[in-house]
Parts: sequence; structure tokens; C-alpha cells
Amino acid sequence: MKVARLHRRIGSIRKDFLHKLSTSLTKTKSRIVVENLHVSGMIKNPRLARSIADAGWGTFLGMLKYKCEWYECQLIEAPRFFASSKLCSNCGEKKIDLTLADRTYHCESCGYTADRDLNASINLVKLSTERSSGINASGDVSLETSSKEELKYTVLSKTV
Ligand SMILES: [Zn+2]
Repeated sequence: MKVARLHRRIGSIRKDFLHKLSTSLTKTKSRIVVENLHVSGMIKNPRLARSIADAGWGTFLGMLKYKCEWYECQLIEAPRFFASSKLCSNCGEKKIDLTLADRTYHCESCGYTADRDLNASINLVKLSTERSSGINASGDVSLETSSKEELKYTVLSKTV
């Protein structure tokens, strides 16, 4: 009984956190770019399963979707196989041998060095900017929108 109560309490705390975060983001940002991660596939990987399940990513994305509608924030999902972590945000070179353990991104081609997540975030911002302006700057990312500018939620279905 005590354990069950504790689990319920942890679940409530997590849900409360995700609600506060998603509300704060959608109320204060005009555009949010998320990666379309294959969550159910990743949970099959025992090393990733626990942290992914604990984080409640699917729940969080669901909250973002409807709150973006409420607060007029544009939600863009990057294509599932968009290599946000492997691409150099400075020159566009793709680092094929990047592993999960590599926390710093270093480009052999142009010498650019940055925190791994920062580099990936810049790539996602670039992707969303290309999508908004209709320019395909990198040449290897093909983007499409299903409707007009006022569309709040866009799924980018093409892959790299
Ligand atoms: Zn580079």
C-alpha cells in the first residue's frame, strides 16, 4: 500500500512538472522544435528504457501539441531520422561515428567545437527556419508543409 501510494505520488509530481514546463514554454515561445524520437523503439533498448520511460516524453509531447493550439505557438517536429546530433551546425558536415558517449561535438572538417546538445539544438533551429522561409539551404533536407502559415502544428515528414 505504501509503495503504491509512493508510486502514485511520484507520478503526480512528474505530471505536474510536465504541465508547468509545457505551459511555460507554449505561453512564452512562438515556435518550438521537437525531435520525433522513436520512443517505443528506444524503450526496447534496456540501457535507454528506464530514463526514457521516467522522463515521460510521449506525455510531454502530447501536452505541447494541445497547448500550442491554445497559446498560438508553432510546434515543429523534425523528421525522425534528421541527424541533429551528427550534423555540424557550422559547416553541415555529417559526423558518422558520433556515439552517445561523445558529449562534445568536434567537427574534423571545419574545427567547430560545441556541446553536443547545443550543436543539435542549433541544427533544429536551422531546420525550423528553413521550413518557415521555404529555403532549403543545406540542400539535403527536404521539407514540406501541409498547409498555410497559420497552421500551428506541422509535421515534417521527409527524412535526410
Ligand atoms: Zn564543421
